Amino acid sequence: MVTQDLEVPARALAVGAHPDDVEFGAGATLARWAEAGCEVSLLVCTDGSKGTWDVDADTDALVATRQAEQRDAAAALGATGEVVFLGRVDGDLVADREAVSEVARAIRRLRPDVLFGHDPWRRHRLHPDHHAAGRLVVDGLVAARDPHFFRDHGLAHHRPGALLLFEADEATHAEVAGTRHVEAKIAALEAHRSQYESTMFVSADDAGAEAERFRRRIRDEAATAGRVVGRPAAELFARLPTDR
Ligand SMILES: [Zn+2]
Repeated sequence: MVTQDLEVPARALAVGAHPDDVEFGAGATLARWAEAGCEVSLLVCTDGSKGTWDVDADTDALVATRQAEQRDAAAALGATGEVVFLGRVDGDLVADREAVSEVARAIRRLRPDVLFGHDPWRRHRLHPDHHAAGRLVVDGLVAARDPHFFRDHGLAHHRPGALLLFEADEATHAEVAGTRHVEAKIAALEAHRSQYESTMFVSADDAGAEAERFRRRIRDEAATAGRVVGRPAAELFARLPTDR
């Protein structure tokens, strides 16, 4: 059983491990909601400083580049909320209490109705940051909703109405996407120009054909997800209640 299409919320917050993760996981949904007037904010846990295959890369410059790219990507989604950077070192993210506090603080401050994140229970996942970022969104939600966690925040507690986890092994929810929302997702992903080679496999030599292959892959993934609910395109999530 897969539920379909939440009511478009007033505010949404999507938490990703690295710049670009949120766009891969929920870009079309966020674009559709932003278009409908939802205030979309993004929270990126790490600085993206290991996101290159260039062994001689200036990683300080890469961090600044990736923040700028993330802001461009948010604009491509039509997101009008904040882009928050926790700034943890790429590859070293752990769901420690300090990081949980920071995510909970962002939830209490931005007060999203729907929260997105990596599924921390996904099997066979290699990247430790994706696991830790998933853990952070779950633990951050629990801390944000209950008033006696992190009272030092000086902020009212807040419980989002829904938690949608991307990269889930077993999807329980679909958000339908229109063509323009899938194209906005692609535009947002392509704003991460520093990731063309390492993530999108677009090399300088054959950029045109490889870029087109990447776009086709994203469109195909959206179409495959759409078939689950008999629609042309969608994104799939594990939907969790936020009161357990
Ligand atoms: Zn990532």
